[in-house]
Amino acid sequence: MKTHFVCVISILLAVALCSAQTNSASAVPKEIPAFDVTAIDKSIDPCVDFYQYACGNWMKNNPIPPDKARWGRFDELAEHNLYLLRDILTEAQAPGKHSPAETMVGTFYGACMDESGIEKKGTAPLTPELEKINAIATKRDLIKHVAYLHRNGFPALFAFYSQPDMHDSMATVANLDQGGLTLPDRDYYIKDDAKSVETRQKYVEHVQKMMEMAGDKSEVAAEEAKTVLAVETGLAKASMDRTVRRDPKTRDHKMTVEEIVGQAPNFDLALYFADNGSPKFTSLNVGNPDFFKQVNEQLNATPLDQWKVYLRWKVINDFAPALPKAFVDENFQFNGKYMSGQQEIEPRWKRCVRSTDILLGMALGKLYVDRTFGAEGKERTLKMVQGIESAMHEDIGDLTWMSDTTKKKAYEKLQAIVNNIGYPDMWRDYSSVVIKADDYAGNAERASAFEVHREYNKIDKPTDRKDWTMTPPTVNAYYRPPMNDINFPAGILQPPFYGKLMDDAVNYGGIGVVIGHELTHGFDDQGRKYDAEGNLHDWWTADDAKEFVKRSDCTADEYSSFVSVKDDKGEVKLNGRLTLGENTADNGGLKLAYIALMHVIGNTPVKPIDGYTPAQRFFLSFGQIWCQNVTDQEARKRVLTDPHSPGRWRANGAVQNSAAFEQAFGCKADQPMVSANACRVW
Ligand SMILES: [Zn+2]
Repeated sequence: MKTHFVCVISILLAVALCSAQTNSASAVPKEIPAFDVTAIDKSIDPCVDFYQYACGNWMKNNPIPPDKARWGRFDELAEHNLYLLRDILTEAQAPGKHSPAETMVGTFYGACMDESGIEKKGTAPLTPELEKINAIATKRDLIKHVAYLHRNGFPALFAFYSQPDMHDSMATVANLDQGGLTLPDRDYYIKDDAKSVETRQKYVEHVQKMMEMAGDKSEVAAEEAKTVLAVETGLAKASMDRTVRRDPKTRDHKMTVEEIVGQAPNFDLALYFADNGSPKFTSLNVGNPDFFKQVNEQLNATPLDQWKVYLRWKVINDFAPALPKAFVDENFQFNGKYMSGQQEIEPRWKRCVRSTDILLGMALGKLYVDRTFGAEGKERTLKMVQGIESAMHEDIGDLTWMSDTTKKKAYEKLQAIVNNIGYPDMWRDYSSVVIKADDYAGNAERASAFEVHREYNKIDKPTDRKDWTMTPPTVNAYYRPPMNDINFPAGILQPPFYGKLMDDAVNYGGIGVVIGHELTHGFDDQGRKYDAEGNLHDWWTADDAKEFVKRSDCTADEYSSFVSVKDDKGEVKLNGRLTLGENTADNGGLKLAYIALMHVIGNTPVKPIDGYTPAQRFFLSFGQIWCQNVTDQEARKRVLTDPHSPGRWRANGAVQNSAAFEQAFGCKADQPMVSANACRVW
C-alpha cells in the first residue's frame, strides 16, 4: 500500500524496504562530521585510487550494520534523521496537548508499534480483501477488481497515474503504463544466467510460504507460486527495458481513450477508467502501448483462476509488513536477506518511522522542519544555488563545440529553472484520513487511498508545480524535467553535505556538487530533450545534438568498463547507458561547483586546513560523500535497477575526467586517476 509513481531524477536512490522487529531505545547518534580527516587512508596515493584514499579508513572502520544492506556517509545522515523523527513521533504519541497533525502521526506510529495488537488480529485485516478476490466470477469482474485495487493503492497488472503532459507541461494528464511485477526488474524474469535462475527458484519458494501462511494447503500453494511466476513472466516479457525507457520519446504516446480501448480490448479499459476513482477524461498518455497489446493476448489465454491467484499474491505481498511477525519475517528473509544481503531486519521503530514518512510524510515533515530547519540554512543554500547557476552560465559560454543558436536556448532553460529549498510552501492536508489506534493495516490502506486520490485528482487540471515529490526529512535531492525545477529537501542540508561552521571548500564539495548535479540533469541525455517550459521539444541544432551524443557516448563507454561487483557468481560491470544521466550529472556537478568555489575564494589567499588546500578539501569533501560499504547482493541488484553508479565510481569516475583534480593533487598524465581519454559533456 505504498505505491507512488514518481518521475524525478535524484542524486540518490531512496530504497524503502518496509518489512518488521525488536524495539531498542538508544539516543540520537552524534552529528556526522562534514569533513573527516580520520576517514582518509594516507598510505594510498590519491592519484592512483582517489576513492580509496578519501574513504579507505572510513570503509575499514564502518562495516555494514547488520540491519543494512548498504552503509555510506549519507546513510549515516539518514539514520540520524530517523532518530530525530522517532523523538518527534514518541512525543506526539505521549499523553498531553497536541495539534491535530501531531495526534495523527503519533496515532499512526503507535498503531504500527503495537506488535501484540497486530499479532492478536492475525490475518483478519487480509480476509475481506481475499474474499473479494474469491468472488470474482468473470473477466469483467477481474478488471473491476484491478480498478478497486489501484484506487486503494495496491499495485497490480499495470500502472495508472497522473503526470504533466509531455508537450504541454502546464497541464496534467492521465497516464497508463506497464507494471504488475513483484521482483525489482523485468530482467529477473527473463535472464538465463545461474544467478537469475536461482533468484526465480527462491522467489517461487517465498511465494509458496506466504500463500501457506495466508491459509492455503501446501500443494495448492506450490501450484499457486508457479502460477504467479508464469503470470509475472508474461508481464515482464511485454515490458520495455529500463535503459530504453530513459529516452522520454519511448514513453510519449498521447491517444484518445477510444484508441487505447480499441488496441487492447480484453483489458476493458473503459470499465477500468470508470471504476478506478479517477475523474473522467477523454485522452491520455500511454507509456508503453505494446505492453497492453501483448498482455491483451495473455488476458485471454490465461484462465481466470490463475489471474485470481496472481491478485491474491499481490494483496498478500503488499499487506505483509502490516501483518503478524511470521509474514514480516518471511518478507524480510526474501526481500531483505536473500535479495539484498541484509543480515537482520531493522528494529520495528525504524520501520514504523519509515512507514509514517512514506504514508503521512508531509505532516511528519512539517514537525521535522519546525524543529530542525532554520532560515540560515535556506539563505546560505540559495546563495550557493545562485553561484552555481552563474557557473553554469559561464561554462555554457566556454563550450567550443556548441553553436551560439543552441547556447541561447540553453541560457533560456537555465534562466527558467525554479529553485525549491527545504520544504513546500503549502502543507498537505490529511485531515480526511481516518487513523485508528488499533488498526495499522487499515491506516496504511486508507493513507494510501488518500494519496492515490490526490494524485488522480490532478488529471486534466493545471499542473501543480508547488507539489513536492520527496518529504522534507529525505536525504536526497531531485530535478523534474517537466517542471524544470531543482529541489533540496531540508534533510540533505546537513553534514556531511553541508556544515554551518565549515569552510566554503567543504560545503561546495558537498552540497555544492549536489546542486550542480541537479542543475546538470536539466541538460543530460534525458533532460536536454525538454525545453525551458518543461516540454518535450527539440531546441538543438542537428550539429550540436550530434556533438552532444558523441560526448555522452564517451561517458557511457567509460563507465561501462567499471566493475561493480566481483564475487563467486562472477564479475558484473556497470551499465553505462542506464547510469548515463547520473554520471553526466556527477561530472557536470563537480565542475560547476568547483568554478563557483573559485569565484567565492577569488584572489584572497586561503591557508591550508588540516594540511589540505581549498581545492584539495573540495575534492576530498566530494569523495567522502560517497564513502560506503555495500553487500554483493545489493550491488548486483543495483546494477540492474539503480541509475546511479556505486560510490567508488561516482568518486573516481568524475575525478578521472577533471583537470582541476589533476592539478589539485599534482597527478601525472600516466597515473590511473588521470584519464587518457577524459570525457566531458558539460
Ligand atoms: Zn541525479
